[in-house]
Amino acid sequence: MKGRGNVDSIVSTMGVKLHYFEPSGRKIWTVVGKDNEYWLDPDLSFCSCADYYYNALSTGGQCYHLKAVKTALEQGKIEAVKFSDSEFDNFISALVRDLLY
Ligand SMILES: [Zn+2]
Repeated sequence: MKGRGNVDSIVSTMGVKLHYFEPSGRKIWTVVGKDNEYWLDPDLSFCSCADYYYNALSTGGQCYHLKAVKTALEQGKIEAVKFSDSEFDNFISALVRDLLY
């Protein structure tokens, strides 16, 4: 499987980002892949990439973005960015716009 190299390069380039909203404590995870940024939820094992949609859902596996988050958590290599809750709606709209278009 080719995923391993991707995972290592994502983690080593700090491609795993945690967007932390205060004071609610809401968390949004994104992973910057080769050419796109993907939204994922490690708690639900969900990722917005096509690989997850076409493969992970049917085989029960995980795409390399989810593996990258897991590896980054283990190694403490996470880029955390704090936001205020008032920015949440804008952040989500921008993210969804990026994903859909
Ligand atoms: Zn993915």
